[in-house]
Order: sequence, then structure tokens, then C-alpha cells
Amino acid sequence: MALSQEQILQIFRDCGAVLHGHFRLSSGKHSDTYFEKFQVLQYPHYVQQLCGELAKRFRDDRLDVVVGPTTGGVIIAYEVARQLGTRAIYAEREGDKRVLRRGFTLREGEHVLVVDDILTTGGSVREVLQMLEPYRVQLVGVGILVDRTGGQVDLGVRTESLLQLVVEAWQPEECPLCLRGEPITEPGSRFLQAR
Ligand SMILES: [Zn+2]
Repeated sequence: MALSQEQILQIFRDCGAVLHGHFRLSSGKHSDTYFEKFQVLQYPHYVQQLCGELAKRFRDDRLDVVVGPTTGGVIIAYEVARQLGTRAIYAEREGDKRVLRRGFTLREGEHVLVVDDILTTGGSVREVLQMLEPYRVQLVGVGILVDRTGGQVDLGVRTESLLQLVVEAWQPEECPLCLRGEPITEPGSRFLQAR
């Protein structure tokens, strides 16, 4: 049975992955909400369930390889590939680009699915799509667990996300939390209280 968006959000909440506060996101914007995805990814049975939902969306497509960007995307790519019976390879950061290391390669014409955990600006996924271009593969689509832009990012390719949420984020000079003098947190850098 398919999980509803509400059930998926509940999994993130139950795991303590939805944090409230004042955060500087990797995009440089500020937000009052942050998804600490590793709170979910620490539970293999949730990963299996969520990736199973993504795998279902692409079950009828021919696929040879699932590609995910480090770090969270490694776990998603592995589990989606396991459930679809394909290879999984990982796109690692090198400066402002993504590269395949560890002897990973792609053959021309292979059918590729790109996956990631949280879509915030689409930056990491775009880096992976750029990395794929010279390999001349068949890009089947992109699969995302949580799209926190509410579907506003157009990657130029079929994109499936399990949960679309609009989470406000502001440029630092327009941030209402900064205006109120609330101390800011770099996610991942300290203990955060989940609500
Ligand atoms: Zn702020």
C-alpha cells in the first residue's frame, strides 16, 4: 500500500528529523525549519519503506543504474537499487562539481535514475545531472524523498518526490528571525531540539 504524504511526514517527525529554530542552510538562506535527514536514515526499516515508495514510481521503467550524490544520496541510491535490482553508484564532490571515483563508470546508453534525500535548491541534483552529460546515458528521471521547494524547482527531467512541502527560507538580510535577534545555528554543528 502506498504511503500518503502525511504518513511520510509523520515518519520524519517520529524520527525527530523535523527541527524548528533558526538555521543557516547550505544554500546560504535562513529558515525556521530544517530536515535532519540522518535522523531518518539511521533507521534501515524506514529507509527500506521510503525507498520502496520511490522504487515503485520507477518500477515500470527500464533502469540499469541508480546514482546518488554523497552523503545521504548514497544510502538512498543503494536501497532503491537494491529494490529495483540495478547497480548503485555515487557522485562525490570535487570542488563545485560531482565526479565518479572508486572505479565507477557508466556506459553510453545505460538507463540512469538519479536519487537524493532532500531537495532544497536542487543544487546537488543539478551537479549530478551535469556530471552525467559526457557519459551519454539515458536519463530516466530524478527521485527525491522530500522536496522542500514544494515542486518549484524544474530540473528539466521527470522528477518524482514522495513529499512536497513549502518551507520558507529567506535571504539573510530579509530574515525575520535575524531581525528579532535570534541566534542562528549551522545544522549538524550542535545539539538541536526536535519538536
Ligand atoms: Zn536569519
